[in-house]
Amino acid sequence: MKNPNAKESDVITQSDWRLQGQDWLREELLRYERYAPVRQGSEHDHCEFCWIPFRTRELPGTAREGYVTQDRRWICDTCYDDFKLMFEWVLET
Ligand SMILES: [Zn+2]
Repeated sequence: MKNPNAKESDVITQSDWRLQGQDWLREELLRYERYAPVRQGSEHDHCEFCWIPFRTRELPGTAREGYVTQDRRWICDTCYDDFKLMFEWVLET
């Protein structure tokens, strides 16, 4: 029996277009950080899910801070919120 109060659009399913089998990110330890490229002048990181680019400057259509794994993979705010339950991420405090 479906909950009639649940809005269909709020439910993230396995068929979400951003899901491309990122199973390696399951239960990752994440830290919220201001974006910093690994090397100066090489800003080519993007969100592991929606591919929004991370930049050190505020630009339209980019992210300036987000959640980063131990091996420097980035997840943007939106995707973190959408997938945190599915992936059971642990947030470093
Ligand atoms: Zn994203």
